Amino acid sequence: ALDVRSIRKSFGSHEVLKGISLAAREHDVVAILGSSGSGKSTFLRCINLLETPDGGEVRLKGELIRMRQRGGMLVPADMKQVDRIRSRLSMVFQQFNLWQHMTILENVTAAQIHVLGRDRKSAVEKAEAMLAKVGVADKRGHYPGQLSGGQQQRVAIARALAMDPEVMLFDEPTSALDPELVNEVLKVMRDLAAEGRTMLIVTHEMGFAREAASHMLFLHQGLVEDEGPPREIMANPNSERFRQFLSGSL
Ligand code: ATP
Ligand code: MG
Repeated sequence: ALDVRSIRKSFGSHEVLKGISLAAREHDVVAILGSSGSGKSTFLRCINLLETPDGGEVRLKGELIRMRQRGGMLVPADMKQVDRIRSRLSMVFQQFNLWQHMTILENVTAAQIHVLGRDRKSAVEKAEAMLAKVGVADKRGHYPGQLSGGQQQRVAIARALAMDPEVMLFDEPTSALDPELVNEVLKVMRDLAAEGRTMLIVTHEMGFAREAASHMLFLHQGLVEDEGPPREIMANPNSERFRQFLSGSL
C-alpha cells in the first residue's frame, strides 16, 4: 500500500534522516520506535509531505509523489497531487490538533466537505458513524475544550477515519494523555488493527506495539537500526542499541 524508499532529510547541517525505507502492504501495522530526537516525527512528516524530503521516494498504491529541483532543493512538483495524497494518508498527532472553536461534529465533517467535496448530509452521517465507532457519539455538540484528552484523541481518530484513508499515520497518539486515559485510545487503535486498517504508528507503548503491530522499525541516528516482526526482534534484538532501548537505557 505504501512504499517509502531512502528518505533523507537535513535541517541545516543536521542530517536527521540518512536514508529510511519502509514497505507497508495492505493491512500492515508498522510500529516505529526510537529515542527522542531520532527522527520519527520527521519521517512521518516526510511521508505526507508536511516536510519535503531532500531525497528518496514515496509511493502510495504505486503512485509516485512527484518532486522536482528548485534552487538546489527538492519541492513537490504538483501541489494538487500532494493534496490528493494527503487526503489518502490521514494523520493523528500527539496534541490532537482539533479546531477549538468548532464543535466535535464540525471537526469531523469540515475536511470531508471541503477536501473530499462530500455534501453536508453524507458528511454528517459519516461523522456520526465514526464518532460512535470510537465511543464519543454523545459529544457531537460539545467543543474540544469540554472533553478529556482521551475523548479528544478519539475524536481526532474519528476525524481521520471519516476521510476513508488508505493509510493512517499516528505520531505518539497517547503521549500527551494522563496515564488513566491511555488505554481507551489504545483500545480504539487495537480495534482498527484488527479491522485490517493499514497503519504506521510512532509509539512508546511497547506492550501495544508488540500485540498490535505486524512489523517493527527501530530508528537510531537517522537510520533503521533494527526491524522485523515485533515478537522476534523484541525477544532477540539484532542490534545492541535496540537491546539498550528495550531495557530503558537508551
Ligand atoms: P520525539 O520522540 O521527541 O518526538 P522524534 O524522534 O520525533 O523525537 P523529530 O521530531 O523527528 O524526532 O526530530 C529529529 C531531529 O530533528 C531533532 O534533533 C529535532 O530537533 C530536529 N528537527 C525536527 N524538526 C525540525 C525543524 N523544523 N527545524 C530544525 N530542526 C528540526
Ligand atoms: Mg516526535
